[in-house]
Formats: sequence, structure tokens, C-alpha cells
Amino acid sequence: MVMEQPRQPLVLKTMPIPAPAEDQVLIKIIACGVCRTDLHIIDGELTKPKLPLIIGHEIVGVVAKKGKGVNKLNEGDAVGIPWLGYTCGRCRYCRNEKENLCENALFTGYTINGGYAEYTVAYENYCFPIGEQYANAAGSPLLCAGLIGYRSYSMIGDHVVNVGIYGFGAAAHILIQLAIYQGKKIYAFTTGGDKDAQAFALQLGATWAGDSSQSPSEKLDAAIIFAPVGDLVPKALLDLDKGGIVVCGGIHMSDIPSFPYRILWEERAIRSVANLTRKDGEEFLKLAQAIPIRTETQTFPLYKANEALQELRNGKIHGAAVLTMM
Ligand SMILES: [Zn+2]
Ligand SMILES: [Zn+2]
Repeated sequence: MVMEQPRQPLVLKTMPIPAPAEDQVLIKIIACGVCRTDLHIIDGELTKPKLPLIIGHEIVGVVAKKGKGVNKLNEGDAVGIPWLGYTCGRCRYCRNEKENLCENALFTGYTINGGYAEYTVAYENYCFPIGEQYANAAGSPLLCAGLIGYRSYSMIGDHVVNVGIYGFGAAAHILIQLAIYQGKKIYAFTTGGDKDAQAFALQLGATWAGDSSQSPSEKLDAAIIFAPVGDLVPKALLDLDKGGIVVCGGIHMSDIPSFPYRILWEERAIRSVANLTRKDGEEFLKLAQAIPIRTETQTFPLYKANEALQELRNGKIHGAAVLTMM
């Protein structure tokens, strides 16, 4: 499924199977998750896509062929391919363990082709070995929704207890399982009146669930915002206890309205997270297998990608949307 231009439906096309470069592997794709970032790319809110482009960055597949220089992976290995597709290893960010901010990074399904396809190529060093357990549609959401949730969560510190999650979709339904496993209390905020999402959050163990306009039953130590809604930033600040932090987990957000300084004062903080590092991936996938995290997926055949995107846009997806190729 190819994006020829932003703001147009993806086009079903037959294309040659790509050949892996020396340090790449050819992947036969099993499944690819559908992420909100894909909507931001299609809508032109992320402004620098390769064109034409195959989107998709939550890829689960099997190594079908290796480039000459590949030495860690073998044909038949199950792997997951995330948003971070390549980093240079030389820039000041890479040298300081911040490869997520690499100046020369390539991103899967944005600046290089991704997973809304039957085959793709990926750099060996940016493929995560993924256990049997996740070598299927259930593994896909871990690779972005799971990872970005993990990176956001790792910013809130170890000693917090009451954690608010704003926007209860793919990322939240994974993160809540990890957070509860580690003894946190979760307060889930959804779009007004979204009783389904609130019931889903409570079923997964949330302490409290309600509309994002409501106040939680207790002050929060940390707030993680997954919904791309800038209005939630001052709202989350109001819900925070002294010294608390608001983490914005998305890649794009509507403008944040101005707010009085007093709701930031008392050492409250706001920060964003960007992309992921390979260390995040290794840590998170290990935890996911140990807990084990279960993902709730709604699957669509590859050719129905436009339909899956539309349902995600309309908030109709329960858990995570995933395209399946075999
Ligand atoms: Zn770099
Ligand atoms: Zn994503």
C-alpha cells in the first residue's frame, strides 16, 4: 500500500521485492501495526516523508534473506522493526547515548519504506529479535505503541505512585500492564463519554477512569499524554501534585493553550519524548515477555489499510489496529 502524496488514500500496488544491502536483511512481513503517527504522515503534519512511501513502523516478520555483511541474524529468525530504522553512530547525539535524537537518523515508514507491504528491507542492527510469543499480530503494537509508552514512562522516575494516562488507546493499554506490574496506580483519562475505553482501562486494572475534563480522585505524581491534544497539557498540570511531571508521548500535538504560571510552579515540569533508542527496545521487549504483556488487536488484511486508518481516526479501534499479511 503506497502513499504517493499526502492527504490521499494509500494505493494498492504490485512492486518488486526489494534487495537487501550489505548490512540489511529482507523481511517477509507477518504483521504491521497501524499507528497514529501514520495518520500524521498521511495528513501532512509530518512534513518530510520520502515519496512515494510505504508507511508502517510496527513490523513483525521473518528474515527471508541476508545481505553479505549480516552476521547476527539468520534466515528464519523472527524480528520486530521499529520506527528508528538507522542512526549514524557519529553525531554528538549518537556519541552521548541519545541516538533517538540522531541528526542523520532514518525512520521506518517515514524516510525509508516501512511495513504496509509483504516484504521490506531493514538494517540488521535496528531489528529486534522477537520471541515466538510475539511473532504474530499481537507483537506489532509493542514496537511503537509499547516502546513509546515505555520511553515516556521511563521519564517519570522510579518513586512515583499515582500516574495519569491521557488518551487510552494502543500505547496506554500496553503501558498500564507494565505500570501495574511495577506497583503504580493508574488514572485513565479518555475523550468525554468514551465509556468503552474507560471500562477497558478498569478491566486492565486502572484505579480510576473518567473523562479528561474530570479531576482524578487523588493528585497525580506524573501524567503521560498520548492523545495529540494540546489542551490536555494545562489540564494535566492542574491534576499534578507538587514536583510532578507531564510527559508528552506523541510526535505531533495541537497547540498548547497559554496557562497561568501558578499551575506550573512548585517544580512541576513538562517534557516531550522523541523516537526511541535500541536500549529502550531491548529493555522493553524483555519486560514484555516476562510480565507477559498481552495486546488487544483488531486485525485487517493489508489491502484494507485505508479502512484501518479511518477507524483509528474515528476512535473506533479497541486496543491496537494491525494489518496482517499472511
Ligand atoms: Zn547520529
Ligand atoms: Zn508509531
